[in-house]
Amino acid sequence: MEILKRTSSGRGEYELAGSVDSVATSALIDKPLLIDTQSSLGQLSTGIWLQSQGGKPRLRMIEKGKGIHIHRQIEALLLMPQSIRDETQLLGGQPVVLAGRYVMRRVEVSSAKFVDASAILQLRAIDCLNDTLTHQIDFPNRIQSILRLYAGAEKLPPRVAKALHAHQADVISTRRVSASTERIVAEIISATEAAAEESDIVLIRGEDPVPLLLDLLRSQPTVEIPPISDIDPEDLVMRRRVADRWRMQKDRGPESTKFRSAVRKAYKSTCLFCGLRLVSPDVRVPGIDAAHIAAWAHYEADVVGNGLCLCKLHHWAFDQYLLALKFDEGVGYSIVVTQLALDAFASDPAVLESLAAVAGPINKQRLPDDPNDWPRPQFLNLLYEDMRVNF
Ligand SMILES: [Zn+2]
Repeated sequence: MEILKRTSSGRGEYELAGSVDSVATSALIDKPLLIDTQSSLGQLSTGIWLQSQGGKPRLRMIEKGKGIHIHRQIEALLLMPQSIRDETQLLGGQPVVLAGRYVMRRVEVSSAKFVDASAILQLRAIDCLNDTLTHQIDFPNRIQSILRLYAGAEKLPPRVAKALHAHQADVISTRRVSASTERIVAEIISATEAAAEESDIVLIRGEDPVPLLLDLLRSQPTVEIPPISDIDPEDLVMRRRVADRWRMQKDRGPESTKFRSAVRKAYKSTCLFCGLRLVSPDVRVPGIDAAHIAAWAHYEADVVGNGLCLCKLHHWAFDQYLLALKFDEGVGYSIVVTQLALDAFASDPAVLESLAAVAGPINKQRLPDDPNDWPRPQFLNLLYEDMRVNF
């Protein structure tokens, strides 16, 4: 059985067709339809039933003019941007699910059961398409993703969290999906776009917010990191591991946004080590990071002087102590391939060559205009002392 968008009529109406578990569509006539979310959200009333009109079953509002169409209910329940019905407006291209640019062509009904006078439907694959491409959303998986977002909302930006709570409260309290749910989804999408902008992630206007929100949730710190002073100075492996984790959390945590943008601005988004500027409006994520030098909070962690603007390769090489940044009074900054790198890649001269390509003094022009923003020697010294890096 399937909910199908008919293409014949201009506006594209939705119909219920076929059969499932030997229940035919015709058996559902005159029965209010419920959607079983197959989750703790329970069953939701649609306010829609199947009516026989001119001998053909049609999906109709039970109370005329009250409620929204079935495809809009599915979209608003699943935090999807709104689709359209007029297929002449489709443009093609990625992403497929984009507000006002795709149609919900077909929704698989995997089970239909009768309880009292109602028919309860379980949904499965949802086929979305634009002119050229199809994207399938699995209803039960998507519901689980949304429950994860509800549960983790506090770890997301406050405006997103507030809208997610409102969505959950709306669905649970009304036991249905309505135009007010749609308004909340619009707010979730716009709050997600704002959050993406703050994190330097390029999100296309009207894009499906759920994949990005799940990414943000996954990247949130979950572990308390012990201070470096609690770790035996002899245990270098452990110290390095803790420094890595600290850096990762600092780079991803909500307070990092200001630091990142301040560092990028000071360095004009250019890698201090190689001079590349890997930024373009056509590329989703810039290839330039704001790296921390000394990895402990009490070292004024988030001042620009404790940061370096580095490309991905050089961020990695710096964090892994393969390339070190040295400061010598009177000489200035220079890059050194460390003993650790020489040992680690002894049998791989191509790696050493590529690291060595940036070794040597750094041209002053690559440093920030304000000398206060330059990498502070005391942070560099702390880093190399703590990590016993040999040049
Ligand atoms: Zn670089």
